[in-house]
Amino acid sequence: MMNVVAIDGPAASGKSSVATAVAEALNAVHINTGSMYRAVGYKTVLAGIDPEKDPETFAKVLASVQMRFVRQGQGDPELEVDGEFPGEKLRTEAASAAASKVATIPAVRTRLVELQREMAGNDLLVMEGRDIGTVVFPDAKYKFFLTASPEERAKRRLLQDGFELDPELLQKTAAAIAERDRVDSTRAVSPLKQADDATLVDSSDLSKEETVQRILMLIREKQNG
Ligand code: C5P
Repeated sequence: MMNVVAIDGPAASGKSSVATAVAEALNAVHINTGSMYRAVGYKTVLAGIDPEKDPETFAKVLASVQMRFVRQGQGDPELEVDGEFPGEKLRTEAASAAASKVATIPAVRTRLVELQREMAGNDLLVMEGRDIGTVVFPDAKYKFFLTASPEERAKRRLLQDGFELDPELLQKTAAAIAERDRVDSTRAVSPLKQADDATLVDSSDLSKEETVQRILMLIREKQNG
């Protein structure tokens, strides 16, 4: 059994902040695999390389891009891409859409899944994404599928980004999230989907702290049982 806590779920479901807190409580390393897809999108689509129109250049960049997670002090390890830390540049709406686009390409998934599998070891790993429990670590000991209603997710995204809950903005954000969910769950390779043996955690009516406590309780139950 793999020493991995897999946390999958749709966009803006709170995966990252929950996974960070779960990893901290368990003294585990937290890996956000979405940042790797974002980094590929950043290096290609956002740099003007269209994977459909120029597949050769795209393949070259994909093969040469260097990525590793570096732990800087206490917090989550940060993704280093070709010697720089893109950080916030990966969080924009354009980077999200670019990530979703490149995530449909089988060669991208093969490369990133390989890198992700290399991260497993003796230490407990909390890995979050879309396909961790289904594809990357189907033998993960603990699997969760974290979700929340679309309205709640749109609200959280806006508040997290420091916006007011303006109805028009809320509707626009909900539409962008719904579109990313659609692309992620209908793609041919590794679509977003709950693993058969994953526990569904719906956080629509839970605070972040309650969600974290529920997941920690489920992990402890399994450890003891
Ligand atoms: O989790 P995050 O929203 O940062 O992920 C960005 C995009 O990367 C997702 O919309 C999805 O298309 C892709 N992704 C993926 N598989 C993962 C993690 C992210 O396809 N394991």
